[in-house]
Amino acid sequence: MSLLVVGSVAYDGIETPFGEVDRILGGSATYISLASSYFAKKVHLVGVIGNDFADEDIELLKSREIDLNGLQKDNSGKTFFWKGKYHYDLNNRDTLDTQLNVFEKFDPVIPDQYKDVKYVALGNIEPTLQQKVLDQVNTPEFVVMDTMNLWIDITKDALKETLKGVDLLVINDSEARELSDEPSLLKAADKVMAMGPKNLIIKKGEHGALLFTDDEIFSAPAYPVIDIFDPTGAGDSFLGGLLGWIDYTDDLSTENLRKAVVFGSVMASFCVEKFGPERLKNLSEKEIYDRYREFRDLSRIPEVQ
Ligand code: AMP
Repeated sequence: MSLLVVGSVAYDGIETPFGEVDRILGGSATYISLASSYFAKKVHLVGVIGNDFADEDIELLKSREIDLNGLQKDNSGKTFFWKGKYHYDLNNRDTLDTQLNVFEKFDPVIPDQYKDVKYVALGNIEPTLQQKVLDQVNTPEFVVMDTMNLWIDITKDALKETLKGVDLLVINDSEARELSDEPSLLKAADKVMAMGPKNLIIKKGEHGALLFTDDEIFSAPAYPVIDIFDPTGAGDSFLGGLLGWIDYTDDLSTENLRKAVVFGSVMASFCVEKFGPERLKNLSEKEIYDRYREFRDLSRIPEVQ
């Protein structure tokens, strides 16, 4: 099986209460690809980089055997740059700077050899670009999409259009409320699913995630990470771990979706332990499965008569 990942490849500046970095590899497609590479047989990354993209970052992606044939290099400008600041409540961040650079003219072109992929991850980029990807692939079995408040604010109609072709939307609680104009999360979920996505995940930051399918709701805990250094990329790592697991198992049953949600949470919990994608560079299988078991034990609810 193989997995197509489309999204931003970026350099990020990050400020958290625990430290600061001026420039570190980031971007939605970067985190999704790295996290999914621990499960998926092959990850194909589609995105754009500029003339400042460092060889060592290419090497990092290659070291995880991510296929970069769909990564365009645009020598006319710099790589997308984003700067964010987190406060003590790490669930909220302020965007301090966004420089689109080569991203401004990005036109995702899906190489012919990827058009028959079964699994597609639409990382956080403008919804019209996500739609362009869907227009090029043949009949993927499962399309997962992320988005952000910015697109709900400025391109809601286009976003709703793209949602029609999506099997699973992964958003956080504030995005779900904003998209549906509905404060109750359960009602918000109903309204968002009525827009098209067959399944929905609402992430609640350090409080876990809810999975809505057509016949059930599953509540997954979040791993109580002792030292959160940097939440950047947690959402994308969640998506990557989740879809990587689905690709690996090739199983879309509700039971397996539950496992996928926990593997997503596992990858997000690793991501936040260090700045940028550092922690996703070389995890062992044992670390990943051990943490999965910790998650399982964490929410084991005893039977009552
Ligand atoms: P998250 O998983 O939500 O923490 O995603 C963090 C990543 O999103 C960062 O590495 C940023 O480079 C990327 N990002 C921030 N703003 C945008 C945007 N407007 N479009 C695409 N990617 C973005």
